[in-house]
Amino acid sequence: MLRLTEVKLPLDHPEEALQAAILKKLQITPAELVSFSIFKRSYDARKKEDIVFVYILDVETTQEKRLLQRFKKDPHVVLTPDTSYRYVAQAPNTATASLANRPIVIGAGPCGIFAGLLLAQMGFRPLILERGKPVHDRSVDTFGFWSKGKFNSESNAQFGEGGAGTFSDGKLYSRVKDANHHGRKVLEEFVNAGAAPEILYVNKPHIGTYRLVKIVENMRRTIESLGGEFRFESRVQTIEIEEHGENRQVRGVVLATGEYIPSEHVILAVGHSARDTFEMLHQQGVYIEPKPFSIGFRIEHPQSVIDQCRLGSQAGHPVLGAADYQLVHHCSNGRSVYSFCMCPGGQVVAATSEVGRVVTNGMSQYERSGKNANSGIVVGITPEDYPGSPLAGMELQRRLEERAFELGGRAYEAPGQLVGDFLAQQPSITLGSVKPSYRPGVHLCDLSSSLPDYAIAAIREALPAFDKQIKGFAMHDAVLTGVETRTSSPIRIKRNTEYQSLNTAGLYPAGEGAGYAGGILSAGIDGIKVAEAVALNILQGVNPG
Ligand code: FAD
Repeated sequence: MLRLTEVKLPLDHPEEALQAAILKKLQITPAELVSFSIFKRSYDARKKEDIVFVYILDVETTQEKRLLQRFKKDPHVVLTPDTSYRYVAQAPNTATASLANRPIVIGAGPCGIFAGLLLAQMGFRPLILERGKPVHDRSVDTFGFWSKGKFNSESNAQFGEGGAGTFSDGKLYSRVKDANHHGRKVLEEFVNAGAAPEILYVNKPHIGTYRLVKIVENMRRTIESLGGEFRFESRVQTIEIEEHGENRQVRGVVLATGEYIPSEHVILAVGHSARDTFEMLHQQGVYIEPKPFSIGFRIEHPQSVIDQCRLGSQAGHPVLGAADYQLVHHCSNGRSVYSFCMCPGGQVVAATSEVGRVVTNGMSQYERSGKNANSGIVVGITPEDYPGSPLAGMELQRRLEERAFELGGRAYEAPGQLVGDFLAQQPSITLGSVKPSYRPGVHLCDLSSSLPDYAIAAIREALPAFDKQIKGFAMHDAVLTGVETRTSSPIRIKRNTEYQSLNTAGLYPAGEGAGYAGGILSAGIDGIKVAEAVALNILQGVNPG
């Protein structure tokens, strides 16, 4: 198979143009072209009046050898690399694999689901324990909170089947190094579970929230059909750790109900919001380090402002969809402000998992057809900003979320302010042309006391700077809502080269909560890596030496 890169075609090209471009580039006849597929499609919008698609194509031809020779100096015609996934292990006998070796996965977010899927596919029949409800019931609770303000601390935007990313834009891109092509495996499994096949080739794929719900249910059924088991409303309260001097070995978990479940392989995929679980791990002496994360607000603009700036006269083109952006500004006080988790045509959502706290985040439907664009505008902070215990960053998050709850009127409304008023340092009294989408509602106020002074100063400096890149970004009526605190985990539960906790054998910290992922795709990739490590470790025990 040959890989052709940098194949450029106009936005409105007919389907046949792809084949024509291949024949022209390779100078072969239609009879010599066996088949082709799109590996990647992005667009180049540097010239707004002439936006073009840029394709990477995989081509099967009867002339492969000859063409490789002929194009050997052309970097845009190469042999297609093998990106197929290969299992690293297989359980000796699926039907009789002993219960003592049955691995436990704590958490059914993207990390836990992919860890569970891979273990099941390799024949290790994992048990997946999830504190929240199955995704359908969880959706009822979460949407109920957003519409009526009735909050359930075990079933919400963070907790429940599907994890934190379930009610999201479902963006599936990541900057992690992925030498073993695990990301491709994640995308392929999403397609097997019902995602649109285009996620395999579009440059910045997204799934959209309603579709994600169905996909999560389908993945659960696949895992169950392979011998895996899910238990919902099963919060892990403690990990059983046996200590012999310096050596510590996991022996099982205890649920909030008091039930003990033995296992020597426990994958900890609890996400960045499992604060009670972090406290329990810290108390039990599991090695934890503080880690940088970011704090800030959500910002909402009319999507048309973003489209116009990014796509010019092609704004609204159905193939391009709603435009996105990625912004960063390095401030005079040494802080960096950047846009985070941008949701084109989406809505701002209430993402708390604790009573009496307010947290913002964003989501979109697949169509991204909402009126507003939103993103987090956040400031990077480091453990120097929250010295002390490894959990001090988490405590800072809690304090900021409590302050937001107070500023929002103590009924789960988000405190909000117009960008014009925020820059002019005056409270907002009435909304302007942008209707904020956060539910149960937005309580206008002065946001300047909602974050530390350095963060407020940095955001005040960054917004006008962003306006130079996207005209209208600092428009008076754009709405800020707060607070955005759960950008990533405030801790890292460090692990060794075998993916086990530094000081607790058999505990496999994984995904975003452990500080090893940031986003759905990277959490899925990490789940696969950790499942591989668990499988190999179990096999070592079965066949020592
Ligand atoms: P999580 O998804 O947080 O899953 C952890 C699971 O563990 C949860 O289901 C939780 O209930 C469970 N759990 C916790 N403690 C326990 C316990 N003690 N016992 C049993 N179960 C427990 N990322 C993207 O890449 N693209 C996006 O578009 C995107 N949008 C987002 C929108 C929103 C509203 C939110 C909140 C997040 C979004 N993210 C997005 C981030 C993404 O969701 C996370 O990076 C990802 O879900 C992390 O996966 P995870 O499996 O590591 O953890």
